[in-house]
Amino acid sequence: MRCKTIGLIGGMSWESSSEYYRLLNETIRARFGGLHSAPCLLLSVDFAEIAALQRAGDWPALTAKMISCAQRLEQGGAELLLICTNTMHRMAEEVQAAVSIPLVHIADATAKRIAKAGLKRVGLLGTLYTMEQDFYRGRLARDFGLEVLIPEEADRQSVHQVIFSELCLGQSLDASRQLYRDIIQRLVDRGAEGIILGCTEIMLLITDADSPVPLFDTTALHVAAALDEAIVTEV
Ligand code: GLU
Repeated sequence: MRCKTIGLIGGMSWESSSEYYRLLNETIRARFGGLHSAPCLLLSVDFAEIAALQRAGDWPALTAKMISCAQRLEQGGAELLLICTNTMHRMAEEVQAAVSIPLVHIADATAKRIAKAGLKRVGLLGTLYTMEQDFYRGRLARDFGLEVLIPEEADRQSVHQVIFSELCLGQSLDASRQLYRDIIQRLVDRGAEGIILGCTEIMLLITDADSPVPLFDTTALHVAAALDEAIVTEV
């Protein structure tokens, strides 16, 4: 058994990239034992530049940046690729087309687990880009037949604000946890059978105890899917 070299495009934000790194290594230690750890390459960007381009809506520039990161990781020896943010899966197809190593898609990893749990209607929390644009919800609906509910406008603003003004800066506040709990409850009242933590930092704020329905933590699910693909039996 061996683990392929995993290429991570991270730094968006580094608060969640460090969770990816921890989860990858913890899982490899549990699976392989002893001093084993995860072979990986982390290319960590300056998130201030990325967030400014997102605010400006300059998705072509962001796509070019993600493609460049993916190609550098491939050239460095990565055998599979993770983009360590839900939002930056907006350009997942273009990134995949620019490299020959497989990209493990965060929404697919999440949707497969939701399907396994037998759920059909789920609430989605994430950045405004992830909640409002089609690239994420559309994929869940079209490819996996999920009905995706997003919070009302004011709640969407609050969820987004907490991500960029607190979680990406390493802050996890009780008041924001309560705000998220209330938003989750409103989604459940509208029929959500589960909630996607569709931003890789939300797991730093919210745990299963904060929700009356199952939570789908995209950070953990993405890492698990990557390792399913990376761990191979040597012949
Ligand atoms: N980490 C967040 C996500 O999963 C937000 C960072 C970003 O805007 O890329 O979407």
